[in-house]
Amino acid sequence: MSEGIVVPQGLIAHGRGEAFDYILGEETLPAATAATSAAAALLLMAEHPVLSVNGNTAALAGKEIVNLSAAISAPIEVNLFHRTSKRERLIASYLKRLGAGDVLGVGKSASSTIRGIASSRRQTDPRGIGKADVVLIPLEDGDRAEALSRDGKKTIAIDLNPLSRTSRAASVSIVDNVIRAIPALTQASYRLKKMRRTSLERFVSDFDNQRNLESSVREMIEYLRGWA
Ligand code: ATP
Repeated sequence: MSEGIVVPQGLIAHGRGEAFDYILGEETLPAATAATSAAAALLLMAEHPVLSVNGNTAALAGKEIVNLSAAISAPIEVNLFHRTSKRERLIASYLKRLGAGDVLGVGKSASSTIRGIASSRRQTDPRGIGKADVVLIPLEDGDRAEALSRDGKKTIAIDLNPLSRTSRAASVSIVDNVIRAIPALTQASYRLKKMRRTSLERFVSDFDNQRNLESSVREMIEYLRGWA
């Protein structure tokens, strides 16, 4: 936050996430692992996959996002709720220092809009989210997650809260901390890359997001029961 990558509101969102991380035992649970396989399959089958990055994601898992981008050949797009061109450039250059190639969504290059969103997060890059068929949305807000789905894009949320609007709107929701979920997604992508397309299709068709979210809640209850 002192470098300007994360805004104060981002710290509040981070705290909300941490509260949920406590009640799942701060480790990756089976429902998240199942969602990660479906997410990797979706990203590998996509024509134009894009990784959407905000300040919290850059600060918590910048290097991990750069590694995932290389593993699946997907561009990174900066997309901020509290958008200023200074902050966009700061995040883009931070990611480039960590090894990212071109970073989309900075300044005037974010010239397309997603309909149905009032905030500045409606701005997208026509080379990135604008033409994407699958978008990874870590720590997303509900309005934008719902609007992306309405626009016909498949979305992969990484959100510790299985009850959030984002988790419910996404095609695949990984209920886990970005610091664990993104490296796991990179590993799963390398593993699934070796598989045939029919196997990848099965990972996606066998996955039911609503049922998986219910499993995440049950796993949290089980964990808490251990303490009760
Ligand atoms: P929604 O609008 O989707 O109903 P919200 O208003 O809580 O939910 P935001 O504050 O915009 O949405 O998004 C922050 C989300 O990110 C929260 O759901 C929070 O649980 C989640 N989150 C925060 N930190 C992390 C983290 N480190 N890893 C994964 N998810 C996180």
